Amino acid sequence: MSSTDKNFPDERMNHGMRGVTILGSTGSIGVNTLDVLARHPGRYRVLALTANTHVDRLFEQCRQFSPQKAVMLDPRAAAQLKEKIHKAGLAVEVLAGGEGLNTVATHPRAHIVVAAIVGAAGLLPTLAAVRAGKRVLLANKEPLVMSGRVFIEEARVSGAELLPVDSEHNAIFQCMPAGYRTGATPAGVRRIFLTCSGGPFRTVPPEALASVTPEQACAHPNWVMGRKISVDSATLMNKGLELIEACWLFGVTPDQVEIVIHPQSVIHSLVEYADGSVLAQLGNPDMRTPIAHALAWPERIESGVKSLNLFEIARLDFESPDLDRFPCLRLAYAAARAGGTMPAILNAANEVAVQAFLDQRIGFTDISRVIEHTLSSLPASQDAELGAVLSDDARARETAGRFIAGRESRVVQGVT
Ligand code: NAD
Ligand code: MG
Repeated sequence: MSSTDKNFPDERMNHGMRGVTILGSTGSIGVNTLDVLARHPGRYRVLALTANTHVDRLFEQCRQFSPQKAVMLDPRAAAQLKEKIHKAGLAVEVLAGGEGLNTVATHPRAHIVVAAIVGAAGLLPTLAAVRAGKRVLLANKEPLVMSGRVFIEEARVSGAELLPVDSEHNAIFQCMPAGYRTGATPAGVRRIFLTCSGGPFRTVPPEALASVTPEQACAHPNWVMGRKISVDSATLMNKGLELIEACWLFGVTPDQVEIVIHPQSVIHSLVEYADGSVLAQLGNPDMRTPIAHALAWPERIESGVKSLNLFEIARLDFESPDLDRFPCLRLAYAAARAGGTMPAILNAANEVAVQAFLDQRIGFTDISRVIEHTLSSLPASQDAELGAVLSDDARARETAGRFIAGRESRVVQGVT
């Protein structure tokens, strides 16, 4: 800390207290993280909070948690926040843009960086935190899907701790041998079972899927989440992204990962060992458990999550996924096996398609069509360096966007 860093004097931070930056604090993961942190005021200190455009919520969070810095991606929103902070007499420095995100992701006082931005937008600040050797709590799965190799290699070089917050990956991490570090291939692991609730359309007749609305797609049976991941959970692309995420985090091949539909969302995933043992992690479906686990690891802290009542749950069901009903899962397996920049192309096409669905420009079943078209139109590069990933991400967004615009004009002309 420099002597001019007057908003964050030493006396506000006890010895041993951990400074936390939350990238994307106004979202679902961000709010859950703050809920856990508020239970441990003597252990964690909120250093920085960030958001895209949600001025009012970020202002309320600044009032409650008095961070040293607040960042808004959008410069106009940053100016509004600055004004509100000034009027309220709060000692919070407001920054803007990608540069502001990088500043708080790499700040010397940030021991822990929570990656909770949605989509590819989180890639650069999260990577900056990894390069700066932080403990990085990874909720934001898309950057890992796009450039897992870069994340794992950079973490190895910098000594950053990559701890998964995605509930399945956090469960897998908890079932790994003691002393396990993400990115390494664990000895004796035969298979990983990635559990999946099946989403809101698990039992809806396939012919009804074409006309489901964004509101129906976002009404997840077990989890309350942001809109993008909610749609991904409805198409099962979320599980496809998680398959790729698991391959990077745990050093396994796509064929070692089995996806299991488990509608109760009580078992968060399982690991099978060479001797036939299968270890699982169970708990109520509440993101505060993986967040608290990764914050305090290897210690355990209170999260506010209520105890699991096995008698109320009574039974646990398992089935295999229907790839005809959910083609996104098939596409994700294909991209995972192809490797290189193919997962980045898959992710970019999906982000564009999901946004178009949320904007009611395409139907639910068009999402997989947009992705399939993009995957088959673009040759992937086997070079998975950051430059190649970012340029294929851009090409995929353009291709997906053009395909959507083409469909819209055909609909307007009455061709389809
Ligand atoms: P959300 O939409 O609720 O929140 C996203 C946050 O990112 C907000 O704070 C928003 O202001 C910020 N943001 C959005 N676009 C941005 C941009 N371009 N630049 C900077 N900041 C931006 O999303 P969420 O549900 O909290 O999910 C966040 C991430 O965590 C996603 O990658 C998701 O897949 C993953 N995840 C979420 C859950 C969950 O339960 N919500 C579970 C597992 C993994
Ligand atoms: Mg998950």
